[in-house]
Amino acid sequence: MTEETTIHLPAIEKHVEHLRKGFDFWPTLENGTPPAMGDFRWPAELILSTWYQAGTGEPPTNGLEYRIGDSGGGFDKLDFRFLPEHQQLPPETEIDLAIPLNRRGIGREIEIAVPWYGGGMSFGSVSEQVMLARAIAAKEWGTFTSTGEGGYPDSLVKYKDHIITQIATGMFGVREETIQYAPVVEFKYAQGAKPGLGGHLLGDKTTITVAKMRESVPWVSLFSPFPFHSVYSVEDHRKHVDWVKTINPEALVSVKVSTPTDVDMVAVGSYYAGAHIVHLDGSYGGTGAAPEIAKKNIAMPIEFAIPKVHKYLQGENIRDEIVVMASGGIRTAYDIAKSIALGADGAILGTSELVAIGCTRCSNCERGRGCPFGLTTTDPELSLLVEPEWGAQRIGNLNASYAKQLRDILRRLGLKSIHDLRGRTDLLVYRR
Ligand code: SF4
Repeated sequence: MTEETTIHLPAIEKHVEHLRKGFDFWPTLENGTPPAMGDFRWPAELILSTWYQAGTGEPPTNGLEYRIGDSGGGFDKLDFRFLPEHQQLPPETEIDLAIPLNRRGIGREIEIAVPWYGGGMSFGSVSEQVMLARAIAAKEWGTFTSTGEGGYPDSLVKYKDHIITQIATGMFGVREETIQYAPVVEFKYAQGAKPGLGGHLLGDKTTITVAKMRESVPWVSLFSPFPFHSVYSVEDHRKHVDWVKTINPEALVSVKVSTPTDVDMVAVGSYYAGAHIVHLDGSYGGTGAAPEIAKKNIAMPIEFAIPKVHKYLQGENIRDEIVVMASGGIRTAYDIAKSIALGADGAILGTSELVAIGCTRCSNCERGRGCPFGLTTTDPELSLLVEPEWGAQRIGNLNASYAKQLRDILRRLGLKSIHDLRGRTDLLVYRR
């Protein structure tokens, strides 16, 4: 990263403006860059380039790396085998990025305009302002965001056609009407960043509003146990699906699972229980609230899980009847494209949206009042640092940059549709 690339970025200026609003105690470096930026998966340069995209709607042209991180493995070791220039599609070629979410022919026909949507972040883990920003952007981009497991704030209802209602083991805020609102209902059986551990919202973050939404009492820690104590088999899961179908017969059902070694069997079981979407959540996702030791050591990286599930579903002759969505460490447009080339239909984003609205990956999500930038906090004062329209604009700009890059990747591979990339591992090459 050169000196030139770390200064004069509009996103940093906005960040610093935010910092100045109420956090003059928070130190900044001489060039305005906040400290504690990133890690090997999200190095500082990737954070800066994401801010650049969120500010401009374009991939950087100033030398900032925006395609890979510094992990030394997984997506960061894969590249595309692009065609020689004379064989690539012309720049004016129309490239289709849309994907259907219902391949079963039962329930609503839903197509999303871009091959990604926003993953669950609960009210309590993030502020209502962040949820609103994500919902507004999802509507503008013809895709979805997910409530996460903390309930469904009233302010989100007007975006309900673009919101997935999540049901997790705590059953916080799950009501008949929140299932009826939902085009897609997601059962969260496990989270890749902390499989087997469940969720834990610290007492400090359980404000009066959060407690009301979760039908609990304020200032006590709230646990989402692992697992659902009513689900130990495919048949039990089928009962869950039937329950949702009774309340909302047209809703699509998504099943969010982490990536144990038998994740392929889990995917097949989800299909036979009636799921439309299997959401594979690999390790490396999660906010700073997920323990590092869990992120690094429990679930299988998503790069291994996707082809394992894709091939197994093909072997069972059901691959084209279920949608596979991948999450857990997908940071860039290139990561989305690589996930699809490995066999997913699309990707689910979380951290990259938070980075777009100012996350520095400082891992303070669960300390004190929560995120100093107003993201993973329920503190009423800190939450005001994120204006929903501003946040939506930045997430929308990041979407614009990702869509542009995906179209360019497909064009350089000679493909006219994102669907044509699915499972094309022959188009990937190992970087040395
Ligand atoms: S959400 Fe906030 S506290 Fe958490 S890692 Fe990002 S900047 Fe730090």
